[in-house]
Amino acid sequence: MDILVRGGTLPDGTQADIAITGDRITAIEPGITAEAGDVIDATGKLVSAPFCDVHFHMDATLSYGRPRVNASGTLLEGIGLWGELKRLQSKEDIVTRALTYCREAVGKGVLAIRSHVDVTDETFNTVEALLEVRETVKDVLDLQLVAFPQDGWYRTPGAEDQVVRALDAGVDVVGGIPHFERTMADGAASVTAACTLAAERGLRVDLHCDESDDPLSRHIETLAAETIRFGLQGRTAGSHLTSMHSMDNYYVAKLLPLIAEAQVAAIPNPLINITLQGRMDSYPKRRGLTRVPELRAAGVTVAFGQDCVKDPWYPLGSGDMLDVAHMGLHVALMTAPDQMRAAFTMVTDTPAEIMGLDFGLETGKRASLVVLDAPDPVEALRLRPVRLAVISNGKVVARTEPARTTLHAF
Ligand SMILES: [Zn+2]
Repeated sequence: MDILVRGGTLPDGTQADIAITGDRITAIEPGITAEAGDVIDATGKLVSAPFCDVHFHMDATLSYGRPRVNASGTLLEGIGLWGELKRLQSKEDIVTRALTYCREAVGKGVLAIRSHVDVTDETFNTVEALLEVRETVKDVLDLQLVAFPQDGWYRTPGAEDQVVRALDAGVDVVGGIPHFERTMADGAASVTAACTLAAERGLRVDLHCDESDDPLSRHIETLAAETIRFGLQGRTAGSHLTSMHSMDNYYVAKLLPLIAEAQVAAIPNPLINITLQGRMDSYPKRRGLTRVPELRAAGVTVAFGQDCVKDPWYPLGSGDMLDVAHMGLHVALMTAPDQMRAAFTMVTDTPAEIMGLDFGLETGKRASLVVLDAPDPVEALRLRPVRLAVISNGKVVARTEPARTTLHAF
């Protein structure tokens, strides 16, 4: 045995030691006594599967303020601003910023990221940069890339060819942005085009879908129907789905079972949805987060993504998926104990499932896990504590000492 994580508490409340040999978990049970090269004392601490961020934009991260900030705070100004930045940044800029971000995220226990990469950048710098980053980090961090036509599949001349070019270059997942096409009809056609490509190539689909306060933005309906028609069940995802917040309840009562039937995963991004949506409202201002508890109750797989860290759309973000889950459970009113525990799985096990990764605290799975300075998932959400140890594929890749306050009061 190479590593023994001793005495930790698993997210379900059981206590167990975890034995690691090579890159695999070889035993999970109380009282393992065999010798180990490295023993990590996790007594009283939560030991969890790694955090996964299933929705991110690594080509834009850490670019905040370049060339200016987003004055309106809207999605549309962010897209315009990104268009300006794309013309200014070099491939090396993107690689440097992305690697800086990856280091920060790994320290927070994030060991898998699905990043959209804008393929409408004519220079193709974005794709080449993130393919290079994926290769650099691959032993530690699973970086899954989505061919994302930011400026529109049909709205941008040549975008469809660029999606194909990116997939040919090794990008993993087919993306799209139907609500940004010129018409609803073009949006629906782009969903069909994305599903066609995915079916032909045996790939997954992850669309920016209905990121809008417009209740009539219903591309998720087309995505669900096309998922069934192409036999892509379990391989497609609708990111954001914010329009569902504003939809008519009667329509949603038909829509939710359709999404469940099609096994389309839902990926809301709470930090971003709560700040980009509702910008055109007076009071009351809509929250702009999709219907998370209702989707879950309908049997839909739902994971929270982070989306942005210091980029044209969002000035904050830290790479900490506990911040994401914390915001998500607040905005979705998920404060019952079982809902808070669910929010923790929505940034750990569920996104790994959507990405098709064999993470998880089970014998035989990859030895990737996180030791947190908190006793259980709800306390982890409350405190967002340091990650005492991060183990990826059987290697300790980060350790953080807890902060200690010396109080001079009372
Ligand atoms: Zn996004």
